[in-house]
Amino acid sequence: MARVYNFSAGPAVLPEEVLREAAAEMLDYQGTGMGVMEMSHRSKTYQNIIDTAEADLRELLNIPDNYKVLFLQGGAHLQFAMIPMNLMKNGVADYIVTGQWAKKAHKEAQKYGKANVVASSEDKTFSYIPDCSDLPISEDADYVYICENNTIYGTKFHTLPNTKGKLLVSDVSSCFLSEPMDVTKYGMIYGGVQKNVGPAGVVIAIIREDLIREDVLPGTPTMLQYKIHADNGSMYNTPPAYGIYICGKVFKWLKNMGGLEAMKAHNEKKAAILYDFLDSSKLFKGTVEKKDRSLMNVPFVTGNAELDAKFVKEAEAAGFVNLKGHRSVGGMRASLYNAMPIEGVEKLVEFMRKFEQENG
Ligand SMILES: *Cc1c(COP(=O)(O)O)cnc(C)c1O
Repeated sequence: MARVYNFSAGPAVLPEEVLREAAAEMLDYQGTGMGVMEMSHRSKTYQNIIDTAEADLRELLNIPDNYKVLFLQGGAHLQFAMIPMNLMKNGVADYIVTGQWAKKAHKEAQKYGKANVVASSEDKTFSYIPDCSDLPISEDADYVYICENNTIYGTKFHTLPNTKGKLLVSDVSSCFLSEPMDVTKYGMIYGGVQKNVGPAGVVIAIIREDLIREDVLPGTPTMLQYKIHADNGSMYNTPPAYGIYICGKVFKWLKNMGGLEAMKAHNEKKAAILYDFLDSSKLFKGTVEKKDRSLMNVPFVTGNAELDAKFVKEAEAAGFVNLKGHRSVGGMRASLYNAMPIEGVEKLVEFMRKFEQENG
């Protein structure tokens, strides 16, 4: 069996140990005689799986008791709608648009209320994070929305915006559990797990209890109300049971790795290997402002589309896959999520160096 170095932006590489464990339990989970996929979500065994997953996540992120953890479906995209439907009390929200995901979230929110753009980096193809220290936050804004790590463009908020006392709602899909976060700074944090935490099909929302209310936008479907999911322990209906089980295994793996401080150090080390090379390379260069660089997603170009394509092709043949950049940016993108080993980045840089010598 040959595993490749998978630099996909998502669905993305998962820890090999987790996949092996899941494979070993596929036919018989802990003596039940059945796999987790075949198991009732109302069983004691499954209740234990979801409870353990939540407890481990709470421990990893140090989630205070007044925040609920919800395991939801519909991808990050459904949150683009659920957030305004559930959180707009005054019908007003402010969006900081730093990429395609925030842009889509803003567009969706406009269906449900007044969604303002208070800052944007679209003028330079989202290659930086705007100064958010003194934005024209609306007096009556129900929340301020950000996409904390911009998967496509490779930028990250290293400083959270000054929301002037308003609630902060953050899409952390592509930086989830890559480093510690102070949950108390947010009203709500959410992420699709397929970038850094598990298989596609699960979204985790961490939401302050007082924001979970009955008085949502009239007509909000039952399934789109946070309260329904909170009141039913994420099991109002059949949850994405197998996906949650895998997330639980990733949480255990993260704990074994030393938790999120250790993960941060690991991720900083990996990213530095690639960024240092990009900064010294004559052929390759990074596309975003240095101060705003993401630890997770690293876009880069040669400046020549043909050479980019040649690189992607040769890299793939050498076992470095999914390096093609998003169609809106072009070039290349290497995603360095938690499960990407340091060795994968070292070998990639070695390969890039060789390519540079041959094509420079
Ligand atoms: C991938 C991604 C999304 C979209 O996720 P879906 O699960 O496909 O809806 C949204 N936000 C961010 C930051 C992402 O990386």
